[in-house]
Amino acid sequence: MPTCLPTVLRRCHTCASERFRANGKFRVNANHKLLDAWVLVLCTACGDTAKLTVLERMNVRSVRPELLDRMHDNDPGLAAELLQDPAVRCRNRIALDWAGAWRLDTGGSDHLDREVGDAIDVSVRFAARIPVRPVRLIAEGCGLSRAEVERLITEGKLVSAVRLSGKLSGDFTFTLKR
Ligand SMILES: [Zn+2]
Repeated sequence: MPTCLPTVLRRCHTCASERFRANGKFRVNANHKLLDAWVLVLCTACGDTAKLTVLERMNVRSVRPELLDRMHDNDPGLAAELLQDPAVRCRNRIALDWAGAWRLDTGGSDHLDREVGDAIDVSVRFAARIPVRPVRLIAEGCGLSRAEVERLITEGKLVSAVRLSGKLSGDFTFTLKR
C-alpha cells in the first residue's frame, strides 16, 4: 500500500534535476466553455513548479462535476489517482519512482507460526499499481532472505501462476511448502 505520493521523474527546466513531488495541488483554468486542468509538481532540488496536464481544452459540460470539485479542493487522493493513470503519465511523458513510498502490510505475524511441512496459500493485493519484485515481498512477508526465496522457487517449494522473477504491479497468489 502507498504511504505517500510517488516521486515523479521528469527533467526540471530550471536546474536539470529529474525528481519532482506532487503536493496535492491543482490548477484549473476555464476559458469560455473550455477547461484546462493540471496537477502541480515541485522540483525536489530547486522547488520550481511544473504542471502536468490532466484536462486539455475540455468542454466544461463534459467534465464530471465531482472531478472539478476534487481539483478545486486540492484533493491529495486525486493527485495519487491521476499519477497512477497510465494515460496521464504517457501524455506528460513522466515515470514514477515508488522507492520509499509504499509498505507491505502482512496483517500480523500469525502466518509465520506454522509447522515444517505445512503449505500455506498467500494472496497479495496491491492497493496501487506499484511495480515491486515479488521475491522481495515474499522475503519480507515470510521472514526469509531473498536468497532463501530464490532457492525455494528453484526447488519448486514456492509456486505461483505468475512469474515470480522480475517485477509485478498487480494482485497475485503463491503457495509456500516447507
Ligand atoms: Zn529544479
